Amino acid sequence: MPELFARVARPAILAASRSEVLRRSAERIPVTRKVVDRFVPGETAVEVLKSVERLRNSGRFVSVDHLGEDVTDADAANATVTAYLGLLDALGQRGDTAAGPKPLEVSLKLSALGQALPRDGEKIALENAHTICAKARDVGVWVTVDAEDHTTTDSTLSIVRELRAEFDWLGTVLQAYLRRTRADCAEFAAAGARIRLCKGAYDEPASVAFRGRDEVTDSYLMCLRILMAGRGYPMVASHDPEIIAAVPGLAREYRRSAADFEYQMLYGIRDAEQLRLAGEGNHVRVYVPFGAQWYGYFVRRLAERPANLTFFLRALAERRKSV
Ligand SMILES: Cc1cc2nc3c(=O)[nH]c(=O)nc-3n(C[C@H](O)[C@H](O)[C@H](O)COP(=O)(O)OP(=O)(O)OC[C@H]3O[C@@H](n4cnc5c(N)ncnc54)[C@H](O)[C@@H]3O)c2cc1C
Repeated sequence: MPELFARVARPAILAASRSEVLRRSAERIPVTRKVVDRFVPGETAVEVLKSVERLRNSGRFVSVDHLGEDVTDADAANATVTAYLGLLDALGQRGDTAAGPKPLEVSLKLSALGQALPRDGEKIALENAHTICAKARDVGVWVTVDAEDHTTTDSTLSIVRELRAEFDWLGTVLQAYLRRTRADCAEFAAAGARIRLCKGAYDEPASVAFRGRDEVTDSYLMCLRILMAGRGYPMVASHDPEIIAAVPGLAREYRRSAADFEYQMLYGIRDAEQLRLAGEGNHVRVYVPFGAQWYGYFVRRLAERPANLTFFLRALAERRKSV
């Protein structure tokens, strides 16, 4: 069943995540909003700040993502920058200028900062990300650059290398399903970078990515070993019990204390496990997305797990019964 879901349902759902028509329909169904709330705690900064407060009070770190991707003009990219500067102002009131891991972080998608714009997209995204990093530094908040589909990886990593020359605390995401990632881990671990390692959420071809569940997990564990052995700060972004169970052994082997790496999970997923790990004295960071453009993020969550899709379909069926 999991293999069938991965081979048949997952690519179809991920294709739907790029459909404008489906996006508009989904946004009109009231029940969708109710289900979306499980993964996205709100559309406004005020709503997300309440969730940040609650997570911080439970001993967890956060990374806040202003939802949006694939902007098609410079004005939309500027609007993303404005939204992040407002968010950083608000987070800055709770910011932390002490050395060591920052409890507060924002996550950025370069496609929301103009990376794909036809002329000078990469340069525009670099300048926009620079503006956000400078503000984040001033208010004591970390920044991590998300990973998008594989056609963007070279451009994203080149922007990250350039920004790290000035902001050496800048983190980036590497996706274990990509065949190239072991080499990228080796490069960034040697440079002492903060790396969030995830499996990868896009539908990638076999020419560039491992597609079987076991081979992705094997790749993840190999990449994690490289990061744990390196000079940087590994961020273990996974809900997978097999991966989480492997972490303490690797940390011991490479003499890393609980302060030298962190676990990361998505908002609304395995909350009890997040609390268990935090209760044992680990750093646990929760990725908290917010904003009106939740459709692509939400559909990628449905594609990850039959249970997430079932949850959504059940809510839809219940609504039909009640109409
Ligand atoms: C902090 C963070 C940031 C991310 N950033 C990016 C990014 O920038 N780019 C990108 O492509 N992807 C990103 N992702 C998504 C990531 O690539 C995966 O798609 C996603 O995390 C699912 O993979 P998984 O490792 O959790 O394991 P999966 O293969 O989805 O799940 C493995 C196992 O975990 C357990 N599990 C999973 N979900 C649940 C649940 N809801 N309840 C109970 N058990 C569950 C089950 O036992 C399941 O069999 C990010 C993920 C995290 C956590």
